[in-house]
Amino acid sequence: MKTLKTLFLITIVFSAKAQNKDSVNIRKIYDYYLTEGKAYKNLEVLCKTIGGRISGSPQAAKSVEWAKEAMYAAGADTVYLEPCMVTHWERGGKEMAVATYPGKRINLTVCALGGSTSTPVSGMNAAVVEVKSFEELKNLGEKNLVKGKVVFYNVPFNPKNISTGQSYGENVKYRYVGAVKASKYGAVATLVRSMSSVNNDSPHTGAMTYDSADVKIPSFALSYKAADDLAAALKADPKLLVQLKSTCKTFKDTASFNVIGEIRGKEKPDEYIIVGGHLDSWDNGEGAHDDGAGVVQSIDVMGMFKKAGLKPRHSIRAIAFMNEENGLGGAKAYAKETEKKKWKHIAAIETDGGGFTPRGFGVDTTAGMYKLALTWKPLLEPYFINRINKGGGGADIGPLEKFGVPCIGFEPDVQRYFDIHHTQDDTFDKVNKRELELGAAAIGSLIYLIDKYK
Ligand SMILES: [Zn+2]
Repeated sequence: MKTLKTLFLITIVFSAKAQNKDSVNIRKIYDYYLTEGKAYKNLEVLCKTIGGRISGSPQAAKSVEWAKEAMYAAGADTVYLEPCMVTHWERGGKEMAVATYPGKRINLTVCALGGSTSTPVSGMNAAVVEVKSFEELKNLGEKNLVKGKVVFYNVPFNPKNISTGQSYGENVKYRYVGAVKASKYGAVATLVRSMSSVNNDSPHTGAMTYDSADVKIPSFALSYKAADDLAAALKADPKLLVQLKSTCKTFKDTASFNVIGEIRGKEKPDEYIIVGGHLDSWDNGEGAHDDGAGVVQSIDVMGMFKKAGLKPRHSIRAIAFMNEENGLGGAKAYAKETEKKKWKHIAAIETDGGGFTPRGFGVDTTAGMYKLALTWKPLLEPYFINRINKGGGGADIGPLEKFGVPCIGFEPDVQRYFDIHHTQDDTFDKVNKRELELGAAAIGSLIYLIDKYK
């Protein structure tokens, strides 16, 4: 009995000592990011010298070269370019949408959805049918009330949801498969209310698909304001016509790269902790929050290990993935290479929720990672990042799940993310330096803990 009690006390003293050392090291990590961090400066260069970098574009190719240099500058021991094939879609000229009815002409601000086909060169002109759900589309379609018309998916974000991410999750189907569903009833085009939480005139683009569609119909996003204007105009005259024009085009898949920076681990160099964001962005903004922020945070993890004087036990990889937005070519290539080379991943972390104030992490239960992460909550609490949700990951690390890799998603505050997501407003000036750095520090601290305890 006595021995057990002694052992118990020794364990407590030992773990208290370990926690104390960890809190000192996490403090050092934060000191690095908040005084010497390179994330903000790197983001400025990426956004202002390269800007929007849709897959397959010259800007995307430039961003690969930039990421390689930035990773070496951060202290990577090696940097690899990992080949991948990516979607190549171009927007072409500025799109046009006008609603007309006797005595009225209303300009609607729209943009083509990524992957959309174009309208005929001369444009198109058709009546509009407004729907609030796929069920409504089905009902109208079965009554032959959709044929030859433009389907207008007018579904706003549910303001009662606390997470705007949840609202996005609920509505994004109208953007992604809306054209397939509408074309089955003979629709000629779709207009989708932007996946947005703010009332302004910036349309939000994003990926759509024609998988399983017999006919490819052009698809557009309407700005929040344009969706309201069109709904009001339809009330005034349900027979109104919309003129639509776009010149976008999909080309053959193009060769590109993921950029992978690595710091060799001192104890288990063949076991990896990876952290990544995506290097590609939509073409309309600068890809600042989505996902320049995630890329520069990932790159700065290498700077953190070097500058805070911490030598990782495992190898750390920062990955700038290519083609997350419209094809996941980079994610697929990394997963394929993982299988081929039998890379052992201790954990995979993705940061793709914007450079906003960090709240915590979504951690999946694989290999006991979630339970382990819960034990770190007292260490994370002084930094307000102790929210550990069950289940997490991201689109780029998702394909690693099948290899039993514990996946973790960085979770910043998302209240303002869908104000600017996939729009012309996703620019460097929208990123707050301190919030970006606090996010980077949160990610760096988590990696330090995983590296130590796994
Ligand atoms: Zn993203």
